[in-house]
Amino acid sequence: MRAAVFKEFGKPLSIEEVREPKEGIILKVLATGLCHGDIHIIMGDWKYDIKIETPRILGHEIVGEIINDFGNFKRGDRVLVYNSVGCGKCKYCKLGHYQYCERVKVIGLHMDGGYAEYVSIPSDKILLKVEGNPVELAPLADAGITAYNSVKGINKEDKVLLIGTGAVALLALQILKSRGVSVTIAGHNEIKLSKAKELGADEIVIAKDRSIAHSIATRSSRLKFDYVIDYVGSEDTLSDILWLLNREGELRIVGEFGGTLNTPEQLVVLRGLKIRGILYGTFNDLVNVYNLYKEGKIKTLAVPYKLEDINEAINDLMRGRIVGRAIIIP
Ligand SMILES: [Zn+2]
Ligand SMILES: [Zn+2]
Repeated sequence: MRAAVFKEFGKPLSIEEVREPKEGIILKVLATGLCHGDIHIIMGDWKYDIKIETPRILGHEIVGEIINDFGNFKRGDRVLVYNSVGCGKCKYCKLGHYQYCERVKVIGLHMDGGYAEYVSIPSDKILLKVEGNPVELAPLADAGITAYNSVKGINKEDKVLLIGTGAVALLALQILKSRGVSVTIAGHNEIKLSKAKELGADEIVIAKDRSIAHSIATRSSRLKFDYVIDYVGSEDTLSDILWLLNREGELRIVGEFGGTLNTPEQLVVLRGLKIRGILYGTFNDLVNVYNLYKEGKIKTLAVPYKLEDINEAINDLMRGRIVGRAIIIP
């Protein structure tokens, strides 16, 4: 089968013929979303944290089709793949927080993923039967789950600032708007910000200064928020960011651009602030975000590429040219 194979840090993926998987549940891959996480892996940003054996087929945001009947699934069923497989026994697995299991295996990281014609899935418990266009469905499996998890517990009364305009932020914006929440969104990319406006953002702030906090303080009609959600996580987005929170406000960090959170502790104590990291989400989050999609409340903004053009897609993503999610079609 044809696959895009990751062989060396910092090099383009290699398009080649590889052996088809034989074990587990075999899916014919219909579409796989390209995530910023893939770029972090390819560039070696995470090599001190996650051991990735090469050659490896990446791709952890997969929609596929069942090839052989298995359990409740029939040949031809279309499925979204929840990508994290835990040990099933630890306290994180028992809560459904498989992404935090010490022994987690992620499809497309620790085992071969979706940038290929076929993929092997170790368990039917991570499959969700779905209907619809696979190219549009794919982003739900990773960006959608993360977006859903990142805005959990936020209600109509809350004032929210989203930082960043990538696929996850634009999905989170739509989920918040479906709940009637008032949202300010800040970023550098004006094309993506106008997309955010079109999707219902109440206020957009073009971050002209390096520090997002400074841009908000000088350009936004609002000064304080109940939630600030950072989908970038860089030095520029994190510096002074806690000053933008209301009392008992919460900072959620989703992006992984390696910035440092440097903050006066008295600010945290005297204002009762909370700080949380958000990594992926639960299988239930996948069910919920799929339901929002089915009800027409969110658009996934898929931008399709052929498998052969995956390196072009990677380039476009790195240069900020993709409004939404690049989807690789084998
Ligand atoms: Zn990802
Ligand atoms: Zn576990």
